[in-house]
Amino acid sequence: MDKRLDSIEECYSCGLFIKKENKTNLNQRCPRCNTKLSVDKEISYDSLYYAISALLLFIILNIYPIITLDIAQKELETTLIGAVITLIEQEFLLIGLVVFFTILFAPVLNSFIIIFVYVQQKLKLNIVSKTILYDSFYFFKHWGFIEVFIISIIVTYIKLIGMVSTTKFDIGFYVMLVYIFCFYMSNKKFNAKNIFGD
Ligand SMILES: [Zn+2]
Repeated sequence: MDKRLDSIEECYSCGLFIKKENKTNLNQRCPRCNTKLSVDKEISYDSLYYAISALLLFIILNIYPIITLDIAQKELETTLIGAVITLIEQEFLLIGLVVFFTILFAPVLNSFIIIFVYVQQKLKLNIVSKTILYDSFYFFKHWGFIEVFIISIIVTYIKLIGMVSTTKFDIGFYVMLVYIFCFYMSNKKFNAKNIFGD
């Protein structure tokens, strides 16, 4: 792009073209409508680190049980994947598949796409077009419902505690909390505009 054009930004609110000030760390505002202009930052790798952490935590999360119940001296525990498999085995096939897609598949793919975008950008490769990456990033972001899942676990827990006194959250549950934090942050820090160029 032309260097002179690079220093001009269009106000997304009123369409006024404004010359960007170079010195600014402060937010520049549109002189006509006072809207904050977006500041182009350096590409931040925060999102990448959070995505990698999220994937690692996801693996750990599936090793440890989320909830443990003591029923008649028998200890029952369930992992995230275990819960999905149980659903499918008990002929809740459709629910099982929806849960699998929204809780496991979509969030994991979302993290993979974020990592892939950074790798492709860094190596200056063009294996998958930016449009496809951009669209699939938003698709999987939109269809990831892990935070809904955590609420349902808490509700289940509260209900169970009335019936079975020995219900307790297991390691997996706490790993999941950290996982959700990393997952959320990787999406929040993912600045598509900067990474995809425009
Ligand atoms: Zn404006």
